[in-house]
Amino acid sequence: MELDKMDENDWKYHGEGNKSLVVSNHARVLRLLKYSTEDTTEQAFRHIQNIVDYSQNVMKPLLGEKFVHNGEAVKLPLDFVRQLSLKVQQERPESRCDKVMDTFSGCALCLPNLTQLSCCCSREHRPPLCIEIKPKCGFLPSSRHVTKEIKHKVCRFCMHQHFKVSSYCFGKGHWNNLLNKQRMSLAIKHLIEEPQNNFKIFKGGECIYSCKDDADVLQDVDELAQHLRPYFLPSGSLMNGHQSSKVVLNELIQVIVSALLSSWDPRKTHLSEGRVRCEASLLHRDLLRNTNHCLPKDCVLDKILGTQMLDSLDIEGLNPLFKRVEQHLQDFPKERSSLQIDGPYSQSFLEKIQNCPTEDDGSIEYAVGKVHQYRVAMTAKDCSIMITIATCGEEDGLDQSLEIQPSKPHFTYSVSILDLDPKPYESIPHQSRLDSKIVNHYLRSTLPNN
Ligand code: ATP
Ligand code: MG
Ligand code: MG
Repeated sequence: MELDKMDENDWKYHGEGNKSLVVSNHARVLRLLKYSTEDTTEQAFRHIQNIVDYSQNVMKPLLGEKFVHNGEAVKLPLDFVRQLSLKVQQERPESRCDKVMDTFSGCALCLPNLTQLSCCCSREHRPPLCIEIKPKCGFLPSSRHVTKEIKHKVCRFCMHQHFKVSSYCFGKGHWNNLLNKQRMSLAIKHLIEEPQNNFKIFKGGECIYSCKDDADVLQDVDELAQHLRPYFLPSGSLMNGHQSSKVVLNELIQVIVSALLSSWDPRKTHLSEGRVRCEASLLHRDLLRNTNHCLPKDCVLDKILGTQMLDSLDIEGLNPLFKRVEQHLQDFPKERSSLQIDGPYSQSFLEKIQNCPTEDDGSIEYAVGKVHQYRVAMTAKDCSIMITIATCGEEDGLDQSLEIQPSKPHFTYSVSILDLDPKPYESIPHQSRLDSKIVNHYLRSTLPNN
């Protein structure tokens, strides 16, 4: 990519989240932050470089080399960024337009476009499919610091949904309980039926399925099945519309499950620790009898769950340690940098996480280690998984180990994790207040006798 020859016509609107807006071309995406709060370009660049360092030095070792692409901080011509901002404005969903993209610093994060497959089969005409899943938190806290019993029973996602819209919940946030294919398939079926912000499908890099408020993207399951039919059903199939929709969606779900569990090896299967099932989840009611709690070791879900579980004390147990750190920083302000409160996100930041004492010995090292662990767990609770699949004919002679379905059609796939920003140290008091608001609201509105 030649930075001095950037042309906005080569880029199109790709998507956005709370913090950033993403544009793409075939091979790459540019992730631009929404309003730069940084004073200078150098600060804005430093901010993005911090994200790169954090992905590379902290999240990649924790989540696995093969799943994480840390990208590169780039400085773009301001003219290009301004034109780009004008060009994408009309494509942005209305609900996101309360925030504007940073057109002042010219700084962005450049990443591979994960909706495309870099090793695509040459003879393949069908564009790759990419499924994005935001897994949210996969376990219920078992920390003894938790004061409200309900937190051991109902997951944060369900309670938060309740808090936001008082809505019905679909059990997206507790996949550690979905430790067999049947449960997991059901969870994905719920995601397809009610994608909210947690599920998207791209075809050839274009988003073809997501939640309703995301612009013109369709949300009709039958239309989705039409898109998927050529991938999953033989062209001569005589199945009627409704029947074929069901078959096609089922096939899609099976491929997603295989990708999420890949690296499956019976010798590596271990028992997951966050055992208890969320009572508010539909899955709980549907499949109560099935109690098989194994996640294949080293599959993407296992890696994410392991990182999320670094939040071992729950916000309730962490808050006093945050206060200990704050007190220490008041007494010894110069130690802020050696304790790496605001980074740098280097090897030694990771070591603080990995070498944190297991028991509270009253030290500042313990408190800082736990605070860092909590922030890393927050990142892992907020990430997205991208599963990109392409069909390939047998004659392509691809490495068998890359194929996830032995019978035709053949698929190659790649699995990545994205959105791995550091979560600010300063947001911990806010997290603590939010937690009690959410839990109290849930208790008040669902359990009238409580
Ligand atoms: P959130 O509100 O979830 O924190 P965010 O503002 O941090 O979101 P991202 O999740 O990083 O932003 O990006 C927004 C969306 O852009 C993603 O959900 C995904 O659909 C798309 N996207 C981001 N990075 C890539 C990539 N490397 N390849 C393809 N698509 C991407
Ligand atoms: Mg995101
Ligand atoms: Mg994010």
